[in-house]
Amino acid sequence: MNHIEQQNIQVGEIANGLPLSIPVYRLKGDGSGKSVYIQANMHGAEVQGNAVIYQLLEQLKMLDLRGDITLVPYANPIGCNQKSGEFTLGRFDPITGVNWNRLYHFNTELVSEFAERSSNLSDEQLRHEFKAALEAEVDTRLNGPAHKLATGKRIALNLQKLAHQADIVLDLHTGPISAKHLYAPEYARDSARYFDIEHVLLIPNEFDGAMDEAAFCPWWQLQEQLAQQGRDFAVPVEAYTVELGSQERIDLDDALEDANSILSYLNYQGVFKDAHYTPKVMQRHACYLKDYVAYYAPMGGMVQYKAKLGEHVKAGDTIAHILRMERYLSEEPLHPVKFNQDAIAILHFASASVNQGTELYKFFTNTFDL
Ligand code: ZN
Repeated sequence: MNHIEQQNIQVGEIANGLPLSIPVYRLKGDGSGKSVYIQANMHGAEVQGNAVIYQLLEQLKMLDLRGDITLVPYANPIGCNQKSGEFTLGRFDPITGVNWNRLYHFNTELVSEFAERSSNLSDEQLRHEFKAALEAEVDTRLNGPAHKLATGKRIALNLQKLAHQADIVLDLHTGPISAKHLYAPEYARDSARYFDIEHVLLIPNEFDGAMDEAAFCPWWQLQEQLAQQGRDFAVPVEAYTVELGSQERIDLDDALEDANSILSYLNYQGVFKDAHYTPKVMQRHACYLKDYVAYYAPMGGMVQYKAKLGEHVKAGDTIAHILRMERYLSEEPLHPVKFNQDAIAILHFASASVNQGTELYKFFTNTFDL
């Protein structure tokens, strides 16, 4: 059985002086395979990733590992404790309003400088030195003056430091009420078939502050800049945001399914010796990020969500009913809401009461088979 090492990393302090810390679990491989970093629960209500990490550890301790594996449940020690009544909030820093998953760091200049002075490095040296440069870049900020780092930035940088040490990065999230889906960088579309996830969102090489982008954008940009110099360099890092379903929910059976899905992908990446994990046979629907459409509530009211998640809707189908009881005597109180495109419903708002303009649904449109 593999030894699992635990280290608690301090990522901040709260007002009464107590430390904010996160548990980091590590398993050592024999060094011949890719290393892996998996974190969960950056958004407070998105707790299911912790159960998936539990199910992963239960299996990883029995496997023959080539690569090192690092797992971080409760990645954001503020988020999952941020309650209002019976609900967990935890998508945004309550003080600044900033999304916790938009605080990672990327310096494009680092890529350009590195691309310019890397011509006499072998691919192997290049991978090694660029990885070290990314980590050093994060370290410089973490070790700099404390007054320059906001609470969420300090948490993010500590996580990013761990992520840059790995070749494979998985950030486990959930939607509000949601079908499972996967954010995959466009260059890794073939690898996305090894997850047991039917819905795959293909994202471009643009940094918007999220963990997956912070892990792959520097490498993808380096690959593009080297290509301009006529050098063929394969992106050696893959990073995904894995959306496990709905928030505010722990389901250990479903977590086992998702752990097996992740193990299937890691097995394909050669992280294990003699493991049996293979992807399920299923139809996988892909959509480009530009075709991932938000549908905002056209009016305020009480909502019955009609379009089932993961379900294909046809242009003109009723996706929801909005009830307006203040007009029961004066006009029609029940309003069907329709969507004018063929689409797959991926997620919907978590509450049945909405303001005009609340994000009601998100749809994959212009989908194609992966
Ligand atoms: Zn999330």
